[in-house]
Amino acid sequence: MEKTFLLNVPISITNYDEVLKEIKESIINNTKFSIVSINLNKIILSNEDKTMKETIKSFDCFIPDGVSIVKNNEKIKERITGIDLFEKICENHRNIKAKIFLYGASNESVNNTKNILENKYKDINIVGVENGYIKDNEELINKINCLKPNIVIVALGSPKQEKWIYLNKNKINANVFMGVGGAFDVIGGKVRRAPVIIRKIGLEWLYRIIREPKRMKQLPLQIKYWYILKKKKDVKHL
Ligand code: UDP
Repeated sequence: MEKTFLLNVPISITNYDEVLKEIKESIINNTKFSIVSINLNKIILSNEDKTMKETIKSFDCFIPDGVSIVKNNEKIKERITGIDLFEKICENHRNIKAKIFLYGASNESVNNTKNILENKYKDINIVGVENGYIKDNEELINKINCLKPNIVIVALGSPKQEKWIYLNKNKINANVFMGVGGAFDVIGGKVRRAPVIIRKIGLEWLYRIIREPKRMKQLPLQIKYWYILKKKKDVKHL
């Protein structure tokens, strides 16, 4: 998959269909394929935290999730969000033929997500779930390996979910690993996603700060990097 870079962070030049094809192929060929969503937050984490930079680089596919990513790099044609890619995997479950495991969020959110997806996509194969607050990681890995999923969807928020995938993907006999942040809270009905118009103009991050003031501490770095991206529009290579 071809890549470009924004402030030294890799971004795949791709689209939904191509990513879905790669997912299907990695299941057929029994190879690993890990997906990370690149948004302003990942640009910040990667530039401010050395371990996160290494963690992100270990992934195979870097979907351009944030509007600020798409707007500041002319090579990127299509925005691919983690939550929409997850929904497309579910929509295409008959073609992909995957067994899915959901890990993350509260018991209520992850179970609601499973039930909602099973009602929406009739014979989808969600083989198991686990909430994101389980203490025993070894027990979790054994559980996942016993259930034999092909796809593990991880909703722990960033950077936790990327670090978990980085540290655990080779211990788990699954093919595809993807972090989806707060997607189980959205699909499970606990949190409402920003209105389409807010998403289109690229202010979803501001909407989330207003709705969840605990995110306010992220604001100075968000503004700093949003400004750097706007000013420089620089495409660098590692
Ligand atoms: N979460 C979790 N375990 C943790 C911390 C967080 O499962 O130890 C879940 C939390 O319940 C929420 C999600 O991770 O469902 C984080 O969502 P958020 O919207 O903060 O993630 P972001 O998209 O901002 O990375």
